[in-house]
Amino acid sequence: MEHFCLYGGTFNPIHNGHLHLIREAARLLEFDRLLLIPTNIPPHKAAADLASNRDRLEMARLAVAGMENVWVSDIEQRAKGKSFTVLTLERLRYLFPDTRFTLLMGTDMLCTFDKWYRWKDILQMADLAAFARNDGEQALLERKAAELGKARVIRVEPLPLSSTMVREKLRNGEDVSALLPPAVLSYIQEKGLYVK
Ligand code: ATP
Repeated sequence: MEHFCLYGGTFNPIHNGHLHLIREAARLLEFDRLLLIPTNIPPHKAAADLASNRDRLEMARLAVAGMENVWVSDIEQRAKGKSFTVLTLERLRYLFPDTRFTLLMGTDMLCTFDKWYRWKDILQMADLAAFARNDGEQALLERKAAELGKARVIRVEPLPLSSTMVREKLRNGEDVSALLPPAVLSYIQEKGLYVK
């Protein structure tokens, strides 16, 4: 049976924290494919300052170009509507019937997981692998994972940065070259994204 890891998010924009996590997941979890899935309309957060679907998808593609077994999927953007993980999983199970799925998520997402639409159904269809985004989150992460029962904690060295931080720095004209792959930064600059 094949194993797919699913890594969803707004990726507004994708940054080195995301890429670090993908590399760590490749080291710690055996997967045949990792699907990076930029959302259409994010159901869990306010969508201020959200770049277009196409731009977020394109930046993700540029960022993972050359990474083995990592694919960017437009499955949520093509489905339109709100990007509920349970619906994405149902579609993926239909498309890839002999595949098991693991959802990758940071502490922030794991902490709200039991508020997600049909979260118990998600747990029927997928495993969870959760990881710390910031130092000092490990205890909270372990507790939340234990509460849910089915979440596996993967130990990665946190790379504490966020898309919010990247957007703020871009707005202020600060240097973000250490936070993003060069190809993504060039794309942002060419398109004039996140400047106001
Ligand atoms: P924003 O600041 O706009 O809220 P974000 O940086 O949190 O964005 P998302 O696209 O919302 O990024 O995150 C997608 C997934 O990536 C989530 O599971 C999130 O926990 C994870 N993630 C985000 N930043 C990091 C990071 N620095 N290290 C590891 N995982 C991260």
